[in-house]
Amino acid sequence: MKAVAQATGRQLDKIKAEAQEKGDLGLVAESSRGNQRTMFTPPKLTVPGVFNKLKEIAKMSGNAAMNKKIDIIKGLFVACRHSEARYIARALGGKLRIGLAELSVLSAIAQAVSLTPPGQSFPDGILDASKGMSTDAKKSWIEENALILKQTYCELPNYDLVIPALLKYGIKELPQHCKLTPGVPLKPMLAHPTKGVGEVLKRFEEAAFTCEYKYDGERAQIHILENGEVHVYSRNQENNTTKYPDIIARIPQVKKDTVKSCIFDSEAVAWDPQKKQIQPFQVLTTRKRKDVEASDIKVQVCVYAFDMLYLNGESLVTEPFSKRRQLLRESFTEVEGQFMFATYMDTANTDEISEFLDQSIKDSCEGLMVKTLEQNATYEIAKRSHNWLKLKKDYLEGVGDTLDLVVIGGYLGKGKRTGIYGGFLLASYDEESEEYQTICKIGTGFTDEDLENHHSFLKDHVIDSPRSYYRWDSSAEPDHWFEPVQVWEVKCADLSISPVHKAAIGMVEDERGISLRFPRFLRIRDDKKPEEATNSFQVADLYKKQQQIQNVSSTTEKEDDDFY
Ligand code: AMP
Repeated sequence: MKAVAQATGRQLDKIKAEAQEKGDLGLVAESSRGNQRTMFTPPKLTVPGVFNKLKEIAKMSGNAAMNKKIDIIKGLFVACRHSEARYIARALGGKLRIGLAELSVLSAIAQAVSLTPPGQSFPDGILDASKGMSTDAKKSWIEENALILKQTYCELPNYDLVIPALLKYGIKELPQHCKLTPGVPLKPMLAHPTKGVGEVLKRFEEAAFTCEYKYDGERAQIHILENGEVHVYSRNQENNTTKYPDIIARIPQVKKDTVKSCIFDSEAVAWDPQKKQIQPFQVLTTRKRKDVEASDIKVQVCVYAFDMLYLNGESLVTEPFSKRRQLLRESFTEVEGQFMFATYMDTANTDEISEFLDQSIKDSCEGLMVKTLEQNATYEIAKRSHNWLKLKKDYLEGVGDTLDLVVIGGYLGKGKRTGIYGGFLLASYDEESEEYQTICKIGTGFTDEDLENHHSFLKDHVIDSPRSYYRWDSSAEPDHWFEPVQVWEVKCADLSISPVHKAAIGMVEDERGISLRFPRFLRIRDDKKPEEATNSFQVADLYKKQQQIQNVSSTTEKEDDDFY
């Protein structure tokens, strides 16, 4: 905002007010342009030029960084033409809002390099390599190639490396040239919710599987580089290294000498050294997020390692879990309260699983992660697989999983709740359209203190009118609209097709969305950005699963291969 103000000669207050009103700094930047005459016209912006400036900004740190960043941004704005300022401002804010999700970009690239293979001479090359194929054959051929690209991108999420290799070697050879690399965080494998032990057994049938404790902390993908550096990455590939100096310091002590480089997956969990026990997730969230000094640490964490993805130059993601687990356990030594392996039990006995689930709760965990060991037991990242199932205690009643939803509106309270909000309007996020779609009103699950806190936080985020990217129905109009700033974890009895709410509209029914019945507030999810809320695919998936379970006819179930 400061940069827009300085580049256009407008007052910061005005820019702030207008951005608040329009909900989009991009539009403000665009319409503010031209207020200030420059002596000479700066050269036109180019894509590599802008990209390099953005990189420069990203790398700046230190005292004067803020002003230097503003200077660069000002330089960009002054050179903007047409609607460029809109997209530069949005790109800087991390919200392009062009209605295009990354999945579509990867699919488009895969389609382009399939039909017109790169590395050919022009003009005699093949323009359309699908000539002569039937429509179905063409479709599945492109999908196959897209999966190669998505898998590669998951292992090495860096277009700077993937695209040149794609152009040079083509899609089929891409995996040989773009591999998992310590120092580059990969996308994490995710788990599928289940409703109970019965569903686990049905899904895995004859396959060997293991049950692990599901620890309630923060995912930590830990990389040990050949030069001895240790990096910690979050579930969203953010670099958490400076948040965990304590973890970094202890890795050399727990790692065996045989380990030269590796990537392992773990959960960082708050630990009480006096009582020698795990502490709730909420305790972990009180830790500072970056630039932590080891001497200032008040909340100790214990790392619970559960998977090994790379060891001494070799990627292990296509190896079965039994082998990855064995390598993990051979490569480290446990130290209580610092570095432990996830507790597990290999069994297919229903009673034993139920007991183990109870025990996991007693040991301050969220439940179990159930994982295939041999067949279909690779580390799946490009598609949402069913190799990992999560089993939480409270799945046994209500819907199998909780949802993480964005609070976008508030209803003024009555009676005891006068003066604060008595209820809220919640939305899920649609990645394709970049919209927040309402999913329910919520008024239960709050303590008096929660309600006070929500009110005092949200009152500062009230906006005059709903954002253009909110999808809602006038019958659910709240008294106050909020900016999309906070994510709440919510539980519900079930999901139903709704005449009012808009979540996942068009996915299950053309004109109607899905809503939650009897939603209950559980907690604030500070670790999630609004765009990381439960998305439409997941809402539709939860709804469909619930229908399936009700009908108990899961035989025709289609593998959902949505990539996240
Ligand atoms: P959820 O966030 O509920 O979908 O559950 C998946 C998350 O559980 C992972 O991203 C991990 O952060 C966490 N987790 C805790 N314990 C384990 C475990 N033993 N295996 C895999 N993930 C685990």
